[in-house]
Amino acid sequence: MKTARPGNPVSRRRFIGHLSAAAALTMLPRRSLALDTPTPKKKLGVALLGLGRYSEYELGPALRKTRHCQLTGVVTGSREKGERWAHTYGFPSKNIYSYDTMGGLAGNPDIDFVYVVTPNQLHAQHCIAAAKAGKHVICEKPMATSAADCDAILAACRSAGVRLTVGYRLHYEPHNIELCRLAREKVFGPFMKIEGANGFDMDDDARASTVWRLDKKLAGGGPLMDMGVYVIQAVCMAKVEASPIAVTAKFGPVTRPEVFSEVEESISWAMEFADGAVARCRSSYGERVSTFRAEAEHGWARFEEPAFYYDEPFLTTSLGPTNFPKVNHQVAQLDGMALELLEGRPSLAPGEMGRRDIAITDAIYAAAKSGQRVQVLS
Ligand code: NDP
Repeated sequence: MKTARPGNPVSRRRFIGHLSAAAALTMLPRRSLALDTPTPKKKLGVALLGLGRYSEYELGPALRKTRHCQLTGVVTGSREKGERWAHTYGFPSKNIYSYDTMGGLAGNPDIDFVYVVTPNQLHAQHCIAAAKAGKHVICEKPMATSAADCDAILAACRSAGVRLTVGYRLHYEPHNIELCRLAREKVFGPFMKIEGANGFDMDDDARASTVWRLDKKLAGGGPLMDMGVYVIQAVCMAKVEASPIAVTAKFGPVTRPEVFSEVEESISWAMEFADGAVARCRSSYGERVSTFRAEAEHGWARFEEPAFYYDEPFLTTSLGPTNFPKVNHQVAQLDGMALELLEGRPSLAPGEMGRRDIAITDAIYAAAKSGQRVQVLS
């Protein structure tokens, strides 16, 4: 594994040593990592695992623009697709793996990171296989479909001495970084009243391109797992990465039972924090919505709609509009994660954070099913 910068050897064990659960969620001063740091000599090699829509339209193109990492391989169920990617991105055919042959990644120095971009339920097995091959892991959101699977991924990465991060692109986006700063420095006081929503209309076109999102086993749930995770993330950012102590929740009405026979069509929930703050949130596959607002005693912060899509999320506060550079979210995330690794810094989006969010989604589903207030177990 050659992941360290020349002249600055940093072992994988030391990286993971930085990532104790407590340290991983400690808020560090944030800055736009990819924008203001010189390019190291070596670009880290990334293998995308799962060549679906997010890989094809966002991550692959982003890896052409990154300064600190590049696409050097793929893991795919389709050899033909792999050959097409190798030709398009200029990496050798030897760096094409299948899900069954990815153990061979172990001897391949071209690949430092495996980026898992498969349906949610498969994240655990694919992340664990990547860790066993000795590769650092980026796992797409949601990290897994149960807290137990998150624990298994964390244990595998710990035991292999590799770094685990979650594909939370917004943690590397300047307006979101500013929201974190406002919260951390209590510029308006602690945010106490928060509202957020995220969803899209699962119309016939969307259904045709994403069958697994409606399959409970593969997706783990409906819009909460897919889109609601962003709202949970933003709420936790506004609470300086604290986890809520309890949640209440309610499933929305099923207006298209032929589509939503396994996963919820919409869901609303409230997150209660130890300091008395409350976040009221919702997520839907029946409505295009993407909003976020947080209020404190002396001011407020709001993302203009759409708050969570790939467009630039404009942050406005009670002091006026903010002015931060527009970035490609995936480029900022990939370069940010590569630099964290090269420089031996803790990640802004560690596996422990992904696990925290699955503990929250587990509690939200339990609350919606039971109609009871449910404590969030850490
Ligand atoms: P797609 O359905 O478009 O692609 C998933 C890919 O996974 C497939 O193309 C296939 O790749 C591979 N795969 C392996 N096993 C299966 C299986 N049993 N069923 C279906 N596909 C399988 O999904 P997306 O790319 O939209 O989403 C993938 C992941 O990325 C999800 O976890 C999603 O939440 C996340 N995502 C994150 C986004 C973000 O903004 N951070 C945005 C969009 C998605 P192959 O043919 O190469 O084997």
